Amino acid sequence: MPARILDGTKIANDIRSEVAAEVKTMAAAGVRPGLAVVLVGHSPASEIYVRGKVKASEEVGLYSEQHSPPETVTTAELLALVEDLNRRDEVNGILVQLPLPSQVDSKKVLMAVDPAKDVDGFHPVNVGFLSTQRPGLVPCTPAGVIEILNRSHIPIAGQEAVVVGRSDIVGKPAAMLLLNANATVTVCHSKTRDLWAVCRRADILVAAIGRAGMITRDFVKPGATVIDVGMNKVTDPAEFQRLFGDGLASGWAGNAKREEAFRRKGSTLVGDVHPEVAEVAGALTPVPGGVGPLTIAMLMYNTVKANKMRRGEKQWPVVSG
Ligand code: NAP
Repeated sequence: MPARILDGTKIANDIRSEVAAEVKTMAAAGVRPGLAVVLVGHSPASEIYVRGKVKASEEVGLYSEQHSPPETVTTAELLALVEDLNRRDEVNGILVQLPLPSQVDSKKVLMAVDPAKDVDGFHPVNVGFLSTQRPGLVPCTPAGVIEILNRSHIPIAGQEAVVVGRSDIVGKPAAMLLLNANATVTVCHSKTRDLWAVCRRADILVAAIGRAGMITRDFVKPGATVIDVGMNKVTDPAEFQRLFGDGLASGWAGNAKREEAFRRKGSTLVGDVHPEVAEVAGALTPVPGGVGPLTIAMLMYNTVKANKMRRGEKQWPVVSG
């Protein structure tokens, strides 16, 4: 039986509606949470991400502002900007879009963000809160992974979870969240021996690698839940063929649609999980439309959460993060 497809777009929209309702309630009490986004220079990819974040903020009713220092900005200038945002009461969330130019000490800038306003959840103080199960701000993409599981009624406690990838922004926090939710967790990386055999133990397999279609059906225990965090742009027709076969000839209309779009645009967005996994997994997140939409939804959630935490208010029971 083909895998149940976990609709990340719908789950993200649900969360955004819940956040919007909460923002409305807060507005009636005279409180308006605000997000400040810092985007250095003019990288087209970063500009698209930031535009999405600002637009989403407006849609849920948050106050938002964007700061766009030039590509030549210095570490000292960025630190001064962050300090100013730290001080301003109407700004609850500060997001510094990465990557920063090479002359900037990125770690120093990220460390300067007030942990109470660190809506990305990357500051070591928030990393510490997560690992010691104290309230804090949790990185958006891993928090989205947990939301997908919870809202799809996929049990976590007692399950064998395998996370492939150990980055600070996805793999490690995803593993920590699964551990906090009482899964038995294994974290894999590029030096893991017999990766496929370790992955095959998983009831819940999270792929956060950055390699298109690397997780093939041999890596997946029949019936397992597979969460595909990967976002890879495929432009090579041979790679497209490896992943999607012959469009219509492969028998799945979705492939033909993707092939038509690939021909038109010369690229397609692909996860770390090979599409053939849909034939063995019990449940699977698609790419696009799986984990991706959750990242912005959780950023909106974190901005409201940061506001409530700073005012010492109880969290509302929307999300597990
Ligand atoms: P990253 O920092 O490059 O980390 C990749 C991880 O994968 C590393 O831990 C690396 O191991 C491991 N890895 C690489 N090749 C491997 C192999 N052959 N076998 C086993 N492990 C391997 O990437 P990231 O920032 O975590 O992102 C991972 C993916 O998620 C990317 O596709 C990214 O675009 C996507 N992403 C999506 C969202 C979203 O909103 N959906 C958000 C963030 C990231 P080592 O540590 O040993 O090098």
